[in-house]
Amino acid sequence: MNTQAKSEYADGDCPDHIWNQPEIPQRGWTVVDVLDARDISADPTIGITCEMCGHERIMLIYLMSHPKYDGFLSVGRVCASKMVRPYADELDEPAD
Ligand SMILES: [Zn+2]
Repeated sequence: MNTQAKSEYADGDCPDHIWNQPEIPQRGWTVVDVLDARDISADPTIGITCEMCGHERIMLIYLMSHPKYDGFLSVGRVCASKMVRPYADELDEPAD
């Protein structure tokens, strides 16, 4: 029973967004590519909004894939660093 899922990411740098959606895997992602937002965005000062937390303004886009997720997510470094954790890593971290 995982009614306290929020606590793991309640560290301020990744506010709730799709992190808490049950269909989104929270670990085991792979970095497919790293893109520069300035090559994509028409306005180089804006950057891209992180799809995972919806708050980060990212200039360096980490394109993430997961075997259980259809498609890719464009996220910032903070979220990417959490997403790439292997599932086994959970065993090493206290639940709260
Ligand atoms: Zn993010």
